[in-house]
Amino acid sequence: MINSFVARLTGGYAVTMLVTLALFGAVTYLGLSRTLDSQLDTGLLAIARSESAYAVDHGRELHVHDSSRLANTSGLHHHVQITTLDGTVLAFSQNVEGPPLPLDPTALAANGAGQTAFRSFGYDQLPHRMLYYPLPHDGTVYSLQVAVSREYLDLVQRRLLQVLAVIGSFALGAATLSGYGLAQRAIAPIRRITETAAAIEEANLGRRIPSSGPDDELARLTRVLNGMLDRLDRAFASRRRFTSDAAHELRSPLTILRTNLELALRRPRSVEEYQEVLQSNLEEVERLITLTNDLLTLAQGDDGPHELRRVPVALDDLVLETVERHQGHAQARGIRLETDLAVAGPPLALDRDRIVQLLDNLLSNALRYTPAGKRVTVRTWQEADETLLAVIDEGIGVAPAEQERIFERFYRSDSARSRAAGGTGLGLSISRLIALQHGGRITLSSEPGQGSRFLVALPNDVAQRS
Ligand code: ADP
Repeated sequence: MINSFVARLTGGYAVTMLVTLALFGAVTYLGLSRTLDSQLDTGLLAIARSESAYAVDHGRELHVHDSSRLANTSGLHHHVQITTLDGTVLAFSQNVEGPPLPLDPTALAANGAGQTAFRSFGYDQLPHRMLYYPLPHDGTVYSLQVAVSREYLDLVQRRLLQVLAVIGSFALGAATLSGYGLAQRAIAPIRRITETAAAIEEANLGRRIPSSGPDDELARLTRVLNGMLDRLDRAFASRRRFTSDAAHELRSPLTILRTNLELALRRPRSVEEYQEVLQSNLEEVERLITLTNDLLTLAQGDDGPHELRRVPVALDDLVLETVERHQGHAQARGIRLETDLAVAGPPLALDRDRIVQLLDNLLSNALRYTPAGKRVTVRTWQEADETLLAVIDEGIGVAPAEQERIFERFYRSDSARSRAAGGTGLGLSISRLIALQHGGRITLSSEPGQGSRFLVALPNDVAQRS
């Protein structure tokens, strides 16, 4: 297996060219040889006709032309001989020197049946072609033989073969060279793409592969690779942002912890004072644990499709249980927490803990951002393809410009306000991750000052059901 694309392309090109040239050469050579052979036979026939007319023209004796006239009349240096059908030579041209022309009994027999016959044979150490021509005379059939040397013809054929071989070799060489050149040119942009792609690392992810030339396959490949680099760049940037945000978020409670401890240790304190410091530190530690758990959940989501532990879940029951847990908190804040549940049918195959986590996030946000005296409702219902769950509040709402951004990690519509309200800025990104992991989605429609409606849609197909 050749590893170079250029070598393979050139090789393929050369082999195709070789086959084409060989076919062309064979057709040319065979075609020309055939034409020459049939020309020779036609010539022999013409001579035989004229000789047979001459042979019976002079009374009862059979004659042949003398050699000097023979060469002139036909243009072919030929031998003529007249024999009986059993091979007895009766007359021959004077240029038949040495032994008489060798005779083929089957050809003579053909003459006896009134047919002509052509034979190839060696004579005087040269290849010859001979025509046996029936010659009726005085009630008897004789055989008139006309023979010519094929030496000239063979020479022409040999030359033709040489010319074809030389031209073919040159054509093959030139084609292979130009094929190599073409392959090099074709591969040049791919080399450029490979080199640039190899030089791109995390530090220079902003670099792109330059695209030049027409809008062809290579330009499309460049676009696809650049698109991939865009996505990688964004993914790396968001990861960098996430890491620094996470460090920042972890630092705040740790700084508070350290300050509290330093202050407490500065001088001896009463038991009550120590208890107060420990209580405050416990809250910060709880905050740290919540934050760490959230970060872990998101990190697991980033590592690829998370294995959901799907179990049969009756969604309405699960919502009721969760809402029940939040009732105390809602009452403490003077908020009416209601449900309107309408998911009938068989249970859905869901990761129960994850769906509870999602519901907890949405409910605690709704309670957090809704003032006292207002209402929070959880609705469920079913449509043709999806099971839907909405958490609707009459709270502060989200500005249109921020409605997409609040699903980003660590994004808070108003940092001071949210942090004071106790949020980490990770709840909604975790909720979106859970919805996506279930093959669903989460969307928000909100009117600032009027309230928000977080809608979770989970696929309803039968395969998802247990
Ligand atoms: P946090 O822990 O800060 O609540 P989330 O990811 O859950 O983080 O929410 C991101 C931001 O979206 C919040 O800081 C808040 O500004 C806004 N938000 C979330 N839920 C609501 C809601 N029900 N009403 C108004 N704003 C909300």
